[in-house]
Amino acid sequence: MQSIKSEFPIFENARKEGRSLIFLDNASTTQKPQCVIDAISGFYTGYYANVGRGLYWPATIASASYDQSREKVRAFIGASSKKEVVFTSGTTDAVNKVVNSFLLPQLEQGDEVLVSEMEHHSNFVPWQQACQSKGAQLKVIPLDAELNLDLSELASMLTDNVKILAITAISNTLGVKNDLKKIIKLAHQHNVKVFVDAAQLPLSEKIDVQEMDCDFLAFSGHKVFGPTGIGVLYGKQGLFDKMSPLAYGGGMVQQVSVDKTIMADLPSKHEAGTPNIAGAIGLAAAIDFVNSVGVEEIGRHSAELRKYAVECLSEIEGLTLLAKDAEGTAILSFTVEGIHPHDIAAFLAEKGIAVRAGHHCTHPLIQKLDIAGTVRISFSIYNSEEEVDLLKNTLDEIRSFFL
Ligand code: PMP
Repeated sequence: MQSIKSEFPIFENARKEGRSLIFLDNASTTQKPQCVIDAISGFYTGYYANVGRGLYWPATIASASYDQSREKVRAFIGASSKKEVVFTSGTTDAVNKVVNSFLLPQLEQGDEVLVSEMEHHSNFVPWQQACQSKGAQLKVIPLDAELNLDLSELASMLTDNVKILAITAISNTLGVKNDLKKIIKLAHQHNVKVFVDAAQLPLSEKIDVQEMDCDFLAFSGHKVFGPTGIGVLYGKQGLFDKMSPLAYGGGMVQQVSVDKTIMADLPSKHEAGTPNIAGAIGLAAAIDFVNSVGVEEIGRHSAELRKYAVECLSEIEGLTLLAKDAEGTAILSFTVEGIHPHDIAAFLAEKGIAVRAGHHCTHPLIQKLDIAGTVRISFSIYNSEEEVDLLKNTLDEIRSFFL
């Protein structure tokens, strides 16, 4: 993986500056390969203009590039049409948009919304607040003893009152993967629509929204080697058609008069204002990069590192791994008896090892586990077994320092 790592300039730049950087915080965000940086600066330096308006050459190139980016995303997630792909600013933005345009207009007192105990706040708080504003009920699907979603509980919670099930593909804290095909099939048997928070999914396995049969799915560009400020909301065409626009403004209309506005066709109807053109172009370059390495290869490499880390870290006395048997993901959380997760992260940071400590925006989960938080490591294509060895040795040092 050394040759792939060299495509990410931050590592060579860090080396030149004499800084160590072992980046094990990929669940939070991923580093950027040179091709993504070049694509973004190429837009600004070579053909910068707004999209969908001008007839002059930079505008036509920018418009075509923006459109091609949407096509890249469509193919990346297996959607049947570009009409089902809307650019957002990220996963959080996508959740809020579905809450506002799909859920709220139909939500009434007594209705229910299902989320799980492992949700990120982004896929929890917007649904909770919507329910509270309408006197509806947010119901939380519990986890079983192994910290997997309790499917039998889910089955009993799917009633006629449920308006939507919002579920993560992979827990950003535990690294547990949900069986989405099974969950979605179950929900659809009760006519319940499903929103999938796929923030942690795209580098773990190939997404196929048609096979999955989800109604909505969202992910963020910055977690797939793309830029910040760009994300994707997939929605089935029938639903996107029926929904009122996700936002109102320029670019999403066909005709406006004093009395009336006729909305544009999909997907423009759901994208008001000047979009994040540079972000979409950067995301398309990131998708090209991911495809050139292979999603399966990235997923396999990261999951193998997780497995290796489970083996290595299990040897450390007083260290507890959470959901240690979870398979096929890049994320691993642990606690160490007698040492606060923040102290561990601070010590590791001193050594140039980037990890995350705390609640990982999953307060309900951390409360259920009755812990102060976890230390989370998360892998990507540029990480190696040597880095895991170094982490293990540093954790040994930390134990002798603190205990
Ligand atoms: N859901 C999950 C599972 C996540 O891991 C994250 C990011 N940590 C989000 C949602 C929110 O993503 P963003 O901040 O890019 O909107």
